[in-house]
Parts: sequence; structure tokens; C-alpha cells
Amino acid sequence: MSAALAMQFASCAGGGSAVEDDGKFNIVTSFYPMQILVMNIAGGIDGVSVECMSDPNIGCIHDHVFTTDDLRLVENADVYVENGLGLETFNDQLLSAYPDLQIIEAAASVTDAPEDEGEVNGHVWTSPEDYIIEIAEVAEGLAQADPEHADQYLANADEYIGKVDDLLVTNADCMSAVRGMSVLVIDETLPSFCEWLGLEYEMVETDHEQSALSAGDIADIIDWMNTNGVSVIFVSADSDTAIADAIASESGATVYVMNTCMTGEVTSDAYLEQMQANLTLLEEIG
Ligand SMILES: [Zn+2]
Repeated sequence: MSAALAMQFASCAGGGSAVEDDGKFNIVTSFYPMQILVMNIAGGIDGVSVECMSDPNIGCIHDHVFTTDDLRLVENADVYVENGLGLETFNDQLLSAYPDLQIIEAAASVTDAPEDEGEVNGHVWTSPEDYIIEIAEVAEGLAQADPEHADQYLANADEYIGKVDDLLVTNADCMSAVRGMSVLVIDETLPSFCEWLGLEYEMVETDHEQSALSAGDIADIIDWMNTNGVSVIFVSADSDTAIADAIASESGATVYVMNTCMTGEVTSDAYLEQMQANLTLLEEIG
């Protein structure tokens, strides 16, 4: 960030035009999956507001560059909830503008994030087990930051974790049917989902976009698929399926579009519904 921009931030954060306190406890989330999570913990509580600083269709915010206006949404925040594990790469910008901003990092207690070439893959919410850890972490953080509503946050979190657990109990059969299967994964949002399911996988990194693979890369991938008898390709519902389709047509594999809970409708059951759709799809595969 340029020095001029930093000063602009500083002046709107601390200057005479301070935002009037609306008397509410304002929670601002970084992006869609955190928004859905926090809606379940804090939505509908009197005196608490839940906002998201990015559009629900923005997709992943890793590597996203925010404008000063976007970041200004945080101006009135009492607490800011992020995924963490390096996904919110604009935090330096945020903190230089709002050095006192209280941050809750949902993934702070997640210890099994996938790694690729030494780099932690922070898209952990696609593992329902890690998602449950995130729910608990955020609820405890909110309870500390806003003791007045602590009981409600913790009770709502318990209820929400119960719903995620129910989903897993209901779908236990189709989950165990795919355990140990090898899949090709195109998109970095899905490794946590695959590891949680006990799948063997090879990932093609795309930065959530269609990236051009060389003919040599595709040949290597198809080689790996043939050697390992892989006939399943997972692609993210948020990305282009062009690479997957090209590999599928050469290898004879089938492409399955998996929800990553990274974009969608802003409704409290969005995660549960998207994950249920994934688990239903497993019945076809298993
Ligand atoms: Zn991402």
C-alpha cells in the first residue's frame, strides 16, 4: 500500500469524522463462508449486527485487492471475523488503517490444514470437521469480545454444530463408500474436503480461475490418472470447468462439480445445503 493511501486510511479511522456509535455490537466478516458461519452464531440477536465486507459472489478473497471504500466497512466494526491461515492477504492494509481492530481468526485452532509444497492451504471450511472447529472458535471469540451476549453466541454455536453433526450422521454411508478412492482435484478449495473424506487426491492449482495448462502438464495428469485408475475429477462450482472437461474428454473420467461454500445465497442454511448437495453427489460416485 502506498504511503498516501495509508494516510487516507489513518485519517478516516481516527479523525474528527468518527462514525457515530449506533449502540449495537457490530460484527464484520471478511467473506461469504465467514458471513454464513457468523449469521448462525450471532444473527437475530437483539443489539448485534452482522455484516460482510465483501460481496457474496466475490469468490475467494485470497489475493483479492480491496479498495479504500471496501475497507471502510470495517470502520464501525467492534470485531472483525476472518478465516485466517493467510487467506485474507489484505490484513496489513486493514491493520494499518485500524490498528486497534479486534480480529477473530476462525481457523486459529485448525491444525490439519492441507499443505502443498510447504504452503498451508487455508480453505479449510470445506472440511465439516474443521468447520466445526471454526464455529467453536468464533463463538468463544465473540463471547469474550461481547460478554453481554455470550450465552446466546455459545448456545447458537452449539445448535449450529449439532446441525453440521446431523448432516454427517445422515450421510455416513455415502461418505464411507468413497473412502480411499483416488480423485483428481481441480481447484485449491477442495483438498480439505477430500482429506476429510479420506480420499487420495492430486490437486491442480488454479487460483480459482481457469489457468492454461500446457499439453505436457495435461499429459502428466492423464498419466497419473491412468497409473492410479482415477476416473473421478472434482471441480469447484465457483470455477470454470474447461480444464476439467478437457482432461475428462482425454481420460474418459467423469467431472463432478462440488460446492465449496465460497459463494451463494446469503441464508443461514447455505453451508448445510451446499454440503448436503456434495454428499448426495457422493452416492453417484461410491
Ligand atoms: Zn482461495
